[in-house]
Formats: sequence, C-alpha cells, structure tokens
Amino acid sequence: MLNIDMRKIYNFYPIEPAPDSAALPTAGDIYYECLDCTVIVNSMPHIKSACACGNLSGSGGKLEVMDPTRVRVVKGKLK
Ligand SMILES: [Zn+2]
Repeated sequence: MLNIDMRKIYNFYPIEPAPDSAALPTAGDIYYECLDCTVIVNSMPHIKSACACGNLSGSGGKLEVMDPTRVRVVKGKLK
C-alpha cells in the first residue's frame, strides 16, 4: 500500500447532501474518507489501496467497505 497523504496532492470537498451509506457512489474522482482513521482512499482504486484501520480496502477498480456508516464521501480535485 502506498503511504501517501492524499491531501498533499488533492483538495477534497464533501458531497452534499451526503449519499446514503447503503448506496455509496463510485467514480474516478470520488474518494472515501474513513472516519475511524481519517485516511482517504479512491472509490475505484486501480492500485492496491487500504486505509490504516482496515475499514476500506481494495484494488482493480473495486473497493470493499467494511462499515459504510464510517465513511465520508468526498470529491477530489488535483491542486
Ligand atoms: Zn480506516
């Protein structure tokens, strides 16, 4: 897993209204912030990605979310 602080590369904006945790949106510019460890992971990770606590993990364009209620959906824009 890459140990990069995504906030150094992207500006993140919360999506309003917050999407239903039962149907989280996915897109190349949509990221999930884990509310337990504050790590941000792309919603369609092409490389192996995971947050620090294991709530979010995935690769190959598919992200597994253990607890969707502990996720903030944000949109990322390159700085
Ligand atoms: Zn986490």
